[in-house]
Amino acid sequence: MNRWVYLFSEGSKEQKDLLGGKGANLAEMTKLGLPVPTGFTVTTEACLYYLDHSEQLTDEIKEQVMTAVETLAAKTGKKFDDLENPLLVSVRSGSKFSMPGMMDTVLNLGLNDRTVVALAENSQNERFAYDCYRRLLQMFGNVVMGMDNNDFESRITAVKKAAGLTFDTELTAEHWKQIVTEYKKIYQEKLQREFPQDPIEQLYLAIEAVFGSWNNQRAKTYRRLHDISDDLGTAVNVQEMVFGNFGESSGTGVVFSRNPSVGNSGLFGEYLINAQGEDVVAGVRTPKPIQVLADELPEQFQQLKTICESLEKHYHDMQDVEFTIEREKLFILQTRSGKRTSKAALTILLDFYNEGIIDEKELVSRIEAKDLEAALHPNFDEKALKNRESFLSGLAASPGAATGAAYFTAEAATAAKARGERVILVREETSPEDIEGIAVSEAVITSRGGMTSHAAVVARGMGICSVVGCERLIVSEENKATVGDNLIEEGTILSVNGTSGKIYFGEIPMEEVTNLVALDELHTIWERHAAIKVRANAETPNDIKTGMTLGAVGIGLARTEHMFFEKSRLLQFRQLILADSLAERLEVLDHLKKVQKQDFKFMYEAAKGKATTIRLLDPPLHEFLPKGADECREVAKELGKTFNEVKRKTDNLAEVNPMLGFRGLRLGVAYPEIYQMQAEAIIEAACEVMKETDFVIQPEIMIPFTIDADEFAQVRASIEGAIQTSLEKQKQELDYQIGTMIEIPRACFVADEIAEHADFFSFGTNDLTQMALGLSRDDSPRIVTQYLENGIFKEDPFQVLDESGVGALMKLAIERGRRVNPNLKIGVCGEAAAHPKSITFLNDLAIDYISCSPFRIPQAKMTLAQRAL
Ligand code: ADP
Ligand code: MG
Ligand code: MG
Repeated sequence: MNRWVYLFSEGSKEQKDLLGGKGANLAEMTKLGLPVPTGFTVTTEACLYYLDHSEQLTDEIKEQVMTAVETLAAKTGKKFDDLENPLLVSVRSGSKFSMPGMMDTVLNLGLNDRTVVALAENSQNERFAYDCYRRLLQMFGNVVMGMDNNDFESRITAVKKAAGLTFDTELTAEHWKQIVTEYKKIYQEKLQREFPQDPIEQLYLAIEAVFGSWNNQRAKTYRRLHDISDDLGTAVNVQEMVFGNFGESSGTGVVFSRNPSVGNSGLFGEYLINAQGEDVVAGVRTPKPIQVLADELPEQFQQLKTICESLEKHYHDMQDVEFTIEREKLFILQTRSGKRTSKAALTILLDFYNEGIIDEKELVSRIEAKDLEAALHPNFDEKALKNRESFLSGLAASPGAATGAAYFTAEAATAAKARGERVILVREETSPEDIEGIAVSEAVITSRGGMTSHAAVVARGMGICSVVGCERLIVSEENKATVGDNLIEEGTILSVNGTSGKIYFGEIPMEEVTNLVALDELHTIWERHAAIKVRANAETPNDIKTGMTLGAVGIGLARTEHMFFEKSRLLQFRQLILADSLAERLEVLDHLKKVQKQDFKFMYEAAKGKATTIRLLDPPLHEFLPKGADECREVAKELGKTFNEVKRKTDNLAEVNPMLGFRGLRLGVAYPEIYQMQAEAIIEAACEVMKETDFVIQPEIMIPFTIDADEFAQVRASIEGAIQTSLEKQKQELDYQIGTMIEIPRACFVADEIAEHADFFSFGTNDLTQMALGLSRDDSPRIVTQYLENGIFKEDPFQVLDESGVGALMKLAIERGRRVNPNLKIGVCGEAAAHPKSITFLNDLAIDYISCSPFRIPQAKMTLAQRAL
């Protein structure tokens, strides 16, 4: 016999596959002795079996459900259809992964024309009993029978209107009785049948409806968007009802054990007094912040707080908890790990670590790349923001900032996105049908709903910025909205600040980096675990600062040619390469040296004494030549040369294949004075910064494009000569190193010979990939796309290191290099090195550092630490 049903007291949190997330956690909390109303779970296997067998509950499943109902009766002292003490239950869906709003719950099941009278008598509260009954009729009608909820709600509205009342809470017992009678008529009208009076029939129908809902469109869409398998099925939880709508000492709410938006500790959530089920999230009444409960029901608040804390300790995670208070008694109805923003995710993990809830290893392993990335997402530029007036504000539901065009329906948003627009979804409120529209939007704005409303929860989960409950926003039609006199139409550009809750007309520029405080602490921890260090590819003071902020332990690659592309310098550089004599060259170089020295001083200062690898000029000379006759004429004029002179020289230096031409240290061989100038500037700048500051500077001078030991030795000797003269002039001692890029296959093979002369190697994976694969990096996309489609490449080799080819070359070079020089420092620069998929491989190579662009540093450090665990 198959086991289809488990009591809450029989399961545990490990059984999410079988019992679903909700059921497994209800069981776990029962085991922990928390106040959970008793119940049982019909398994996901039963669901799959049901769906596979013509959607019929088998006798075996029914029998097991009945046995569990009897146990429930015995435990609670209540019975189905009992006129003294009727058993009422909720029927709740719950699959392995939480799917908010996907499959609905039926409350108060077991009520009928007879038991409602008993409930009224037992509770001495007729109003309450009929409110419960009408809710059952409504939920059962909607969820189980597929009726339109508006048909029900419109009756309530009509009754309120007739009685001149505004709120549901003002309706009396008589009103609810009248509504119940009308609801029963709706069943007749719409279904030509009665509402089933038999609780057991109600239960079977509800279980079947939950099972069936696994395949509804909303559930399918959600699964597709979240990569959840269609084969999991959902469990059904049947649980004794507790009543938050019993009066002023009852209530219901949702709390997070920490703030899901920013991560602060302390309860965060909302509740309603005298309310049931989803009243809090439905936005019917405005819920109160959970802190108010500390005044209204202090004991229950304390108990709730203690329970949340113990759940956090138990689960090692921030919890999202549903609770209900029935006549001052607190019940916990659900716990699960709470959805949170990326910023909150990081803050919470760090706090857990500092509070001793998790250890360092768990901290390192649990941080997710997407959270780290999102935490680094740009915000609005603060200065720009200062000069702007917001025209609308609401609750800051999900942080971040975004600019885009307003659209009012999921369809319009999706269509606009497909046209390449950035979209802001503007709605009264959102529902699960809007999920696709939310997913394509940069931000979501709603006029109604609180911090736990659908829009808020979903946007937070997706890391989309969101402002909800903008009360002044009136979404009147499908293509416009108003805020006072302001009109928002389809396509109106809005800027949304999900951190402050403010909304602006027009675009606001974004800020570059946000300095995440927590990041500093993480860097220290990652560094403790990772064997390989991470440096930044950066040369401008701004990039260097960003790199340092994001955790670089130094600069791994400062490309000096980037310093020559500025207009006035470009001209000087052109003068240098077009010079007719050494004398003219030296004159220009003298000038260039002064500006380079300034560049290097800025760099050292920005790097604050951390290791700095400066690469001497690398690009093909070709790139600096004037293009076309017009530019030649212009350059000629500016340099006081004739057009013909410039043209002839330019033609002379032009190359068919510049990337394999006159570049890198080939320039150093032909014009030693250029590299000498750079080396002097590097050394003199270092000496000056050391005099002016406390930083100890040890420049690492890197020579690009080496293919041969003698070639390298010659260039090294020439620049070392210049350095010695420089140092003598400065009367200063300075440690420096001279090493080389390894980026040409030949250099890998003769790495042992080169290593005799080099202090360090740095693999340039971009060029090495280009040359090892014979695949031009500038023209590769067309070929790579084709190769990926045909399955020849698994990954783009310029994004993920080609281990078997390029990686093998690196391995060989490292082996040969270290054989000759065991202290050889080895780095890898190039973006492919920082890809998480490349990092495992690099970890095994035992290199000293990788160097990548600043924004990739945190993730690279994290991945290195995780791989080292
Ligand atoms: P969802 O997965 O959509 O949150 P739930 O089954 O958790 O669906 O619940 C819907 C609402 O009904 C929640 O507010 C929950 O707290 C409430 N609820 C569920 N079961 C009970 C019960 N036995 N007694 C009182 N309220 C309940
Ligand atoms: Mg729900
Ligand atoms: Mg729930």
